[in-house]
Amino acid sequence: MTIETVGVIGAGQMGNGIAHVFALAGYDVLLTDISPEAMDKALSLIERNLERQVTRGKIDADAKKSAMARIRTTLRLADLGQCDLVIEAATERETVKQAIFEDLVPHLKPTTILTSNTSSISITRLASRTDRPEKFMGFHFMNPVPVMQLVELIRGIATDEPTYKALHEVVERLGKTAASAEDFPAFIVNRILMPMINEAVYTLYEGVGNVKSIDSAMKLGTNHPMGPLELADFIGLDTCLAIMNVLHDGLADTKYRPCPLLTKYVEAGWLGRKTGRGFYDYRGETPVPTR
Ligand code: NAD
Repeated sequence: MTIETVGVIGAGQMGNGIAHVFALAGYDVLLTDISPEAMDKALSLIERNLERQVTRGKIDADAKKSAMARIRTTLRLADLGQCDLVIEAATERETVKQAIFEDLVPHLKPTTILTSNTSSISITRLASRTDRPEKFMGFHFMNPVPVMQLVELIRGIATDEPTYKALHEVVERLGKTAASAEDFPAFIVNRILMPMINEAVYTLYEGVGNVKSIDSAMKLGTNHPMGPLELADFIGLDTCLAIMNVLHDGLADTKYRPCPLLTKYVEAGWLGRKTGRGFYDYRGETPVPTR
């Protein structure tokens, strides 16, 4: 299986990072989103992030130029049909992802490998609704994609060995490191990380600490580079809540109950950095705690 062309669905924080690293590694990238604004924003962000890499001496100006030239955008999902590999990185909602695969499948060439960057949703279930469960995998990049080394590879029950090997090779070509995870709710990273973040929100909800003290305690007390609430804002509170719901429903254990305060922030539309407000308010020069 030779992979040269890559389709990316969803041009949000993950989709733009994924397009960035694939283009830099020499793949031709076709990026799509339902929102034209999200696509414009993604392209200018990729430009800016590549420029930052040039300034820091990580890549040269030619590499930036050719990476930008390798990224094309389209509003038509069907245009991704001829790609060798498709990575779905749209909103973390199963119905959204299902509808995307349903619309896409009739346009796909038979050899295309289909993947989802989902943080938590069952790969086997997503795969079972496509025409190619053996060529379907979880391909879980970390945020921010150009910086983070890990990619989780999640096989569904039907995923075949050539598909797994092909994606393993892609991870190597990207210069990243793969970790294999079994297809259980939230896989490895979020199974461990998200209950910690949820617990930090409970700590805030119960008044054990405020935003600043909780984040400082975890940064200075456990050497985490970011506090859990700052990290939640960075990930997106809607995504955090969606992952907790998948853990809660999928493992049927009350220890995964999403904190009501997390739900309230999401209901308010305070989704973290991407909307300008979450546990911190990002609208001024420096982030200000909201509690
Ligand atoms: P985001 O909200 O930044 O972006 C989602 C994008 O998907 C938006 O631009 C939206 O317009 C687009 N979209 C929604 N419905 C669509 C459709 N039908 N067709 C095409 N595009 C559509 O979210 P994100 O943080 O980039 O997360 C995307 C995926 O990556 C989720 O599955 C999430 O769980 C996963 N993920 C997120 C992180 C993180 O830290 N945020 C890390 C790893 C994986």
